Amino acid sequence: MTQHKIDIQLASTRKPKPAFDRLEFGKNFTDHMFVWDYTEGIGWHDPRIVPYQPIMLDPSAMVFHYGQTVFEGLKAYLTDEEEILLFRPDQNMKRLNRSNTRLCIPQFDEELALDALKQLIVIDRDWIPNIEGTSLYIRPFIVATEPYLGVAPSKTYQFMIILSPVGAYYKEGINPVKIAVQNEFVRAVKGGTGNAKTGGNYAGSLKAQEVAGAAGYSQVLWLDGKENRYIEEVGSMNVFFKINGEVVTPELNGSILEGITRKSIIELLNHWNIPVVERQISMDEIYQAHKDGLLEEAFGTGTAAVISPIGEFFWQDKKITVNNGVTGVLSKDLYETLTGIQKGTKQDPFGWRVMVQPIDVNSL
Ligand SMILES: *Cc1c(COP(=O)(O)O)cnc(C)c1O
Repeated sequence: MTQHKIDIQLASTRKPKPAFDRLEFGKNFTDHMFVWDYTEGIGWHDPRIVPYQPIMLDPSAMVFHYGQTVFEGLKAYLTDEEEILLFRPDQNMKRLNRSNTRLCIPQFDEELALDALKQLIVIDRDWIPNIEGTSLYIRPFIVATEPYLGVAPSKTYQFMIILSPVGAYYKEGINPVKIAVQNEFVRAVKGGTGNAKTGGNYAGSLKAQEVAGAAGYSQVLWLDGKENRYIEEVGSMNVFFKINGEVVTPELNGSILEGITRKSIIELLNHWNIPVVERQISMDEIYQAHKDGLLEEAFGTGTAAVISPIGEFFWQDKKITVNNGVTGVLSKDLYETLTGIQKGTKQDPFGWRVMVQPIDVNSL
């Protein structure tokens, strides 16, 4: 690991750790965090690891008013041999810089950010849970900090990384979810910010999620913002269908987030010689495939759940059941292979895993 100059200030006291067998998603945070400042005319400066703490921002800080912010999400795993593994972390840093481009946030040095992330994980390594299905969730994010109420790109920013031990996503095994197809609200439109990982996309999706939840559905299937016909994403995941032996997923069209799990699944399917196509898919086509008995499987993909099988869609008063509401063979194979690669229990022919080298924290 190339070591960049990152100042380290260790916490004088350590927090009690939560029970690793009862972790909830995103509720506990480790002892340290990474902070990096940007100032116009100077660039990114003062990268540092400090005790996890509240941040001080001016109430007029631009992020609070116009939402200029981007984020990422990835996971670290602890193997039985006590090795720390990351899954394609370079891809997250690249995507964060792509999101930055869309949000007018200055580019950062991806190597330095990755190095900082690794050092932070090593410092807080005791927080990586080692129980089956658990991991350390990593949240890099950037916020606009300039105290100014004008609508313009901020002249100052803070890049931070926080860590959160998380439990198994599937506590009682991998079970298909019910999805409400969204006909009223849209998540993103062509030319909008749908392909950037930015908070506003999520704020705008809450209402649809609330309505679907009240009707007994766990997620929303998003259709395109123009014709309300073409499938885009499911909740905050990418979506795949297996129709008559072929796997299809919506092509990246500017309003779909380019998931790293999505990309990995396409590469894995190609490796397995299972036909996979990225193209436009309409909801009518899915309904027709269902009627013809050709809709074999459906699943969402993302870092949190990896694979989330879909057992039912509700669309315009019609129920579309997939594989009798049971997890399909391909969904299960993909889940087991991908999580096996991530946790180090399966071969990694693609070189996706990155091992975090132990470093002597005292020598930093
Ligand atoms: C993060 C995200 C995904 C999944 O991306 P991964 O890199 O696979 O975790 C999909 N859709 C949206 C809207 C997202 O924000």
